Amino acid sequence: MHATQTESTPRRVVQAVKSISFRYVAPAELASLFEDFRSMCNDAVRVAIDGKPRSRFGLIELAYPRLKEYGLHTHYILSACEVAYSVYRNKNRKRIPYIGKGFIKLDNQSYQLSHLLLRIPTSARNFIFLTLGGSDYHLPFIDDPDLKRGSVTITERSVSIAFSKEVQTLEPLGYIGLDINERNVTVSGTDCYEHKFDELGEVVEIKEKYREIRAEVSKKIRGDRRIGGELLAKYGRREKNRTTQRIHSVTKGIVSYAERNRFGIKMEKLRGIRKLYRKGNGQGPYFRGRMNTWVFGETQRQTDYKAAWLGVPAYYVNPRGTSSNCPCGSRVVTLQDRKLYCPKCDKVWDRDDLASKNVMACAVPQARPLRGSDEGERGDDGSNPQSRWGEGKLGG
Ligand SMILES: [Zn+2]
Repeated sequence: MHATQTESTPRRVVQAVKSISFRYVAPAELASLFEDFRSMCNDAVRVAIDGKPRSRFGLIELAYPRLKEYGLHTHYILSACEVAYSVYRNKNRKRIPYIGKGFIKLDNQSYQLSHLLLRIPTSARNFIFLTLGGSDYHLPFIDDPDLKRGSVTITERSVSIAFSKEVQTLEPLGYIGLDINERNVTVSGTDCYEHKFDELGEVVEIKEKYREIRAEVSKKIRGDRRIGGELLAKYGRREKNRTTQRIHSVTKGIVSYAERNRFGIKMEKLRGIRKLYRKGNGQGPYFRGRMNTWVFGETQRQTDYKAAWLGVPAYYVNPRGTSSNCPCGSRVVTLQDRKLYCPKCDKVWDRDDLASKNVMACAVPQARPLRGSDEGERGDDGSNPQSRWGEGKLGG
């Protein structure tokens, strides 16, 4: 019996995940735990490379005897194997992965969180209590009984907890289209809304400034690797704070506009770096291209998970022709200063406006909203070691 199939379009439920980062003061006894867990992960990676397990459970079987010698709670062994297996399976890795920075990651079965007091196990029947710093932003996540708690990642500077919930994706009443480019995010709506979020232009500037600072620092402290490392890490954190702050404000603006109006969001799918070279005016140097790719990807990622969290549907559309055709269908002629001209309509377009309007008008692919992001918000100090391996930045 399929009699009910003609009822209104089924609403889609997505699992939305958000990681919330808490400040805290790491007690001294954590230092050895960080170090042990890091070693356990590295051991498990080596076991994986030697033993070539087919699954995470295969790796647990292989690595268990060695990891047990650390004397930590079993949760640490399971978690180290999970971390190691995902690193081992990462197709993009170029060399043998090595985790250079201490941290702890534990699944939701192993910790207890009562209000701002976090209890984690150490060895069997022994625990450490950590007091988290919580603001008005954090408390609703902790006190909301409808949110599920996922894994906890602890670094020297922050505790990051993944929260998740099931969200019904709204049936959109209209759409906004985004054109993400190196200067701004340009938004066009089916309600004739037009806006340029300019903060994105600052991100690449900030990144270039910090690249120069870091080059200077490296030159000056060549002799002292320890001090150099600390200084570089400090600048890295500042850079990360400043850049993600800008991107957060842009993506928040976009997603809340969509939510207020019950609109869906359409974006272009990032198709590698070459597209971005084409999108910019000049063919920038390699560094600039890489930074733009990062900014582009980060903007999409944040838009994606913020939308998922609020039930705003977000779609990736086929980007072909978004900045070469007028909405009337004619090919446009490129003028100077990012202007385009449509001979048929006799209209001069701003390149970004045209692109965002075309994205807005794109057909929604298979009418299927995106899955909620797996990662959600990263810690403000980049406390997501796993994602850094993906970028190949950790080295030994
Ligand atoms: Zn036209």
